[in-house]
Amino acid sequence: MPAKTDTPAMRQFKSFKDQQPDCLLLFRMGDFYELFFEDAVKASEAIGLTLTQRSEGVPMAGVPHHQLENYLTKLVDRGFRVAVADQTQDPKEAKGVVDRAITQIVTPGTLTHDALLEQHAPNRVAAVLLDDPDLPDARAALAVVELSAGSFEVLTCPAAGLLDELAARAVSELIYPELADAAPPPTLRPILARAAGPGPAPTPRPAWHFRPQESHEALARQYRVASLQGFGLQDQSPEARAAGALVRYLRETQAVADDHPAALAHLQPPTRAADTAHCTLDAFSLRALEVERTIRTGAVQGSLVGLFLGPPAAGGCRTPMGKRLVRDWLCRPLAAAPEITRRHARVAALTGNPARRDALAAALAGVQDIPRITARVALNRASPRDLVALGRSVERLAPVAEAVQDDPAFAEDTAQITSLQQPLAALATRIRNTLSDEPPARLTDGNVVRDGVDEELDHARSLLRDGSKWLAAYQAKITAQLDLPDAKAKVKVGYNSVFGYYIELTAVQARDAAERLAACEMTRKQTLKNAERFITPELKAYEDDAARAEGTALDRERAVFTALLAETSNHLRHLDHAQRLLAEIDVLTAFATRAARRDWTRPEINDRNQLSITAGRHPVLEELLEGEFTPNSVDLGPTPGTAPDRAPDPADPPTQDARPNLALITGPNMAGKSTYIRQVALITLLAHAGSFVPAEAATIGLCDRIFTRVGADDALHEGQSTFMVEMTETANILNNATPRSLIVLDEIGRGTSTLDGLSLAWAIAESLAAARPRTLFATHYHELTVLEQQLRQRVQNLHVRVREHNGDIVFLHQIHPGRAEASYGVQVARLAGLPAPVVERAADILDNLRLSHHTLEDAGERIAETANRAANNNDNNNGSPATGSQLGLFTEFLPHPALEEIKALDLNTLSPLEAFDALRSISDTVTRPHQASADGGPEIAEDGSTI
Ligand code: ADP
Ligand code: MG
Repeated sequence: MPAKTDTPAMRQFKSFKDQQPDCLLLFRMGDFYELFFEDAVKASEAIGLTLTQRSEGVPMAGVPHHQLENYLTKLVDRGFRVAVADQTQDPKEAKGVVDRAITQIVTPGTLTHDALLEQHAPNRVAAVLLDDPDLPDARAALAVVELSAGSFEVLTCPAAGLLDELAARAVSELIYPELADAAPPPTLRPILARAAGPGPAPTPRPAWHFRPQESHEALARQYRVASLQGFGLQDQSPEARAAGALVRYLRETQAVADDHPAALAHLQPPTRAADTAHCTLDAFSLRALEVERTIRTGAVQGSLVGLFLGPPAAGGCRTPMGKRLVRDWLCRPLAAAPEITRRHARVAALTGNPARRDALAAALAGVQDIPRITARVALNRASPRDLVALGRSVERLAPVAEAVQDDPAFAEDTAQITSLQQPLAALATRIRNTLSDEPPARLTDGNVVRDGVDEELDHARSLLRDGSKWLAAYQAKITAQLDLPDAKAKVKVGYNSVFGYYIELTAVQARDAAERLAACEMTRKQTLKNAERFITPELKAYEDDAARAEGTALDRERAVFTALLAETSNHLRHLDHAQRLLAEIDVLTAFATRAARRDWTRPEINDRNQLSITAGRHPVLEELLEGEFTPNSVDLGPTPGTAPDRAPDPADPPTQDARPNLALITGPNMAGKSTYIRQVALITLLAHAGSFVPAEAATIGLCDRIFTRVGADDALHEGQSTFMVEMTETANILNNATPRSLIVLDEIGRGTSTLDGLSLAWAIAESLAAARPRTLFATHYHELTVLEQQLRQRVQNLHVRVREHNGDIVFLHQIHPGRAEASYGVQVARLAGLPAPVVERAADILDNLRLSHHTLEDAGERIAETANRAANNNDNNNGSPATGSQLGLFTEFLPHPALEEIKALDLNTLSPLEAFDALRSISDTVTRPHQASADGGPEIAEDGSTI
């Protein structure tokens, strides 16, 4: 609240602060943006600004105005929202306090400053509106804007899938209706709980912004339409309400006055995202497959996207928008064959034609960030340099079209570029002819506009430029008029800030010319020790002209530039279309370059549930290992030509020709299981994104979703136990996978005790085998391999081959049919450098334990049999053998007295000797398994239930 005793500036500050209470306020004063009070304290703590005092008790911290962007980045990175109050009046003209206004509000999702944005990462802000969150099938309406490019998308999705949709679109800020008296819905909790780090920053907004009436008004004002039907949006629908609330938010953060016609003009009308056209990768899968960043370092380099952001010669995209588009393509691959095939065809046209690739590379090299510049044009923030960069970028359309025009695969692109060229080439020419080649960053620095563009400007400039000539001539003229005895000694002409231009005579000259001073209209202004200074009307007139000329020049430059900006903003749609074409061609060129470099192949996409890859490689590892990578194949799903042209129904009986849909991969640690199953998922993903794939051949049936889950690693998620996370994620797969999905499971069940884990892994594998999505299941539970016999035609065992040599093992990284013979854990431990005595001791213990292991495996086979019987009984129900009764049976059967004994040992207190004794007694028990079984295990009845 402003107080009476406040200075006018402080009152201004406080009224801004009242308007934006949850923002840090940067308040322009002279050459600094100042923060006051709490804001100053917070900012100095967060980013180390020096804290000073303005007057007693008022903490203050400042940043130099030319460093604003830099500091904005830091503050927004730390999770702050920042409002910037600028001076909107020339301080010289101000009577009293300078006019100021909040000119922008910077939040994570609404950055448009180039310096604040990572070039390759899109920056999106979304608004969400949930319908009744208590419904089991609650829906979320989502509106998503990429402000720096102007794109606007709306969609609805199941509320449970909200996080995945946000992750797929790299949304960095989510606005949601804040309900004063109600807790936020559970769907939003993970987002609201987010500290700094990945995932969207939550921004609450008043719930009434989402009301049908208010949001409709916001959209109607933005797009000047009465109804949204034209955009394919139902007025008052949840999507429209989310969209309206989002538009209102954008206008506020961009400080757009309601009557400003052009502001946010680059924001396209909302379009509905077609959910069916994409192959969904949920947030877990994006992470597990390291699509955008690596798990270990979080860096883009080393991820799949990173492959296409490297040096252009190695298949990196060239343009900033290409770099963002490739991320979108890889995080949201397509699921429609025609569009995928169209991308493949264009990549093929470039892969086979190095000359064309080179031509494109050269043409794209000069293209700048057109969408971000366009956005700044629309937000009235474009600089002279921006326009020059825009013009030059647009000029690249011609050579791009030239490079592809004779290729039928690019016929559509060529036609579109040609139609865009007419308006845009004219614009580019205008820019080139109007602005100087290398204009300064700011308009006020002058010399932005070329000579010959504006007559008045030229005149003013010639005044300024010819000024020194005029002064020299005037100096000569006055010297002559004064008729000094020493004609060679010219009078001096100088300038000072007190009385401007003056003529200076030495004391001697002044005395000599004393009689002619009046005739020359010289007025004495200053007497120095040895000199006198005079002004004349002519000199003053010149001075006024020069000062005016400088002002005129600046005014004219501003006028010319503003007109050029206005002309440019007439082409926002064309510019957007052009940048999309250029971005696509850039990504396709990158795909083709990579394909040529590493010998990638064009995948065949079909409509069968097939997954056949011959000699596939891991796209990122093969790059790292430089050709040392061992290729592997996979063959799941129906054989071409024999299977029906539709997704198999779970109820279909397996036919003679059906291929297994689930591959169970066993093998020792470090053998290459994880690498193999991820590479299959990545190849599938790349094919759907329109890229060639690292393989000799690949035939891939369209996927609707790719799920990847990795058994608990060390990461703790939101306080849940790792096992809970693992099971939640797996539940999500079992509930959402369709026969068209690809599922990759890595060591599921690892997060709990062996027996629980094995039981769950078993039941999950059975359930997936029955439901028939293509599945790769890497496991260290060798017991599961009996499933191959039990579920013939559905499950196939694969193992990673290792060679054993004198007790050591050599990893061959080759996948072969069949189960792994041993787990080689002890040998791997030796390789890892465990001390020899420990390794030898472990080998002894292992020998002793082997017997009980056999018991476990026998048990496995018996369980599989019972499961099979139960499956036959269940066929009338849902066809899934994984029902409760077997699970109960399984867990109750497995406990073995020896295992129970081992579990009961307290390994933290046991001495080695005690351990050995314990082991000996266990070993005695397990050599008499029948007795143990008779003592402990329950009997199994014929129908598979427990007695
Ligand atoms: P696992 O999951 O079986 O423990 P990983 O898949 O994690 O094994 O592989 C371990 C390491 O082996 C990888 O980091 C990689 O360096 C190497 N590797 C795996 N597969 C291959 C392969 N096909 N060719 C070459 N090296 C491989
Ligand atoms: Mg692994």
